[in-house]
Amino acid sequence: MSASVILLEQTGSPMLSVEDARAAMVMQVNSISASQMLPLQQLCGRVLAEDIISPISLPPFDNSAMDGYAISSSDTHAQGLKIHQRIAAGDTPSPLSPGHAARIFTGAMIPPGADTVVMQEFCEIRDGMLFVKETFKAGDHIRIAGHSVSRGSRVLRKGTLLKSYHVGLIASLGVNSASVIHPPRVAVFSTGDELASPGTELAPGQIYNSNLPSLISLLQSQGCEIVQSGTIADDFEQTRSTLKAASQSADLIVTSGGVSVGEEDHVKNSIEAEGKPALWKVRMKPGKPVAFGHIEGALFIGLPGNPVSSLITSMLFLLPIIRRMTGGSVQAGLVNGFPLPSGYARLDAEWLTPRPRREFIRVNLAQEAYKLPWAKPLVNQGSDVLSGLAESDALLEIPEYKTFGHGAVLRYWTLNDLCT
Ligand code: AMP
Ligand code: MG
Repeated sequence: MSASVILLEQTGSPMLSVEDARAAMVMQVNSISASQMLPLQQLCGRVLAEDIISPISLPPFDNSAMDGYAISSSDTHAQGLKIHQRIAAGDTPSPLSPGHAARIFTGAMIPPGADTVVMQEFCEIRDGMLFVKETFKAGDHIRIAGHSVSRGSRVLRKGTLLKSYHVGLIASLGVNSASVIHPPRVAVFSTGDELASPGTELAPGQIYNSNLPSLISLLQSQGCEIVQSGTIADDFEQTRSTLKAASQSADLIVTSGGVSVGEEDHVKNSIEAEGKPALWKVRMKPGKPVAFGHIEGALFIGLPGNPVSSLITSMLFLLPIIRRMTGGSVQAGLVNGFPLPSGYARLDAEWLTPRPRREFIRVNLAQEAYKLPWAKPLVNQGSDVLSGLAESDALLEIPEYKTFGHGAVLRYWTLNDLCT
């Protein structure tokens, strides 16, 4: 079968909103069904292929939440309780007899006959006898068996992107491996005759290739397996044959650069060669042109070449595609197709000219106690200025077609939060 492109309709408008572009791309993605069992240490960053059902209750036994003394709340203790055993975490206690108390430590098993732990700060010990100085109520400071997790309950859902605390939770159930979705196999290419590899000498007219390493890093951080990567020259035949060959081994092909309509932009032409135009203009800045479609059985996304545009569009479009491929819910935490904002900030500038494209501007945040932070735009917002991403604290969203005075409240995302 020859290379073909599925182009999504631009629904009348010459430019798509960020939300529409994002939703339309995600709709086209098929989930990967292949899974693999991995040990605990390799689970972080992977997506669960099956629910995790707990084989035990947590905690498995009633235990003390404090260092103190285990007693029976019904015991009269005006004349003191005799301390007759010491129970540390991991010990097996003997039953508590009436009129007695047990020295007990955090995490230790509650002895049969005791129903309360009195914290040690409330106790006085005289001649081996315990005197409780403060009031308490029955059941204080006891962590009841099963209060955290009950046996047979679903602890994690299929589709969960596993973080370090999920791995801890799985381990706490005594489970040492889990079934996760096979990682998307991704081929990633930068395009451009001007690109030199870091570590080599720059010839006149060249710049170092920053998109390829940053895209590979982003994809790896999302659990993708990079099956092929490299740089494609600004040449139609090379572009077309490289993308077609990559479609044999990859679930997803990602390119940067070459998606505009210039004479040297061969990505678009290569994809177009066998189908309808695959270029979308998204109403956003930085990052207007984004290409999307299929090459043979592989999904294809063409990101813009400018480094800042490439990174921001990859967070807004590429990451949801990957989440959907691995069966994760892209809707989780999203409002209108967007991740939850990291917060709201007051614009420390004026925005008096309405623009047709939504802008994501790099800002520094200045905190004020119990007030929304001030967001000050960096002076240089060039889409080639990658250093600005490193210097900024967040991206502030300026909605299209509107003006904003000093102090206007707007949404912002840290780069970390955009990566969810
Ligand atoms: P293009 O989209 O190919 O027209 O590229 C737009 C701008 O991004 C040009 O200034 C390119 O030199 C630059 N650019 C393209 N690809 C890369 C890359 N991999 N690393 C750094 N800059 C790039
Ligand atoms: Mg180029």
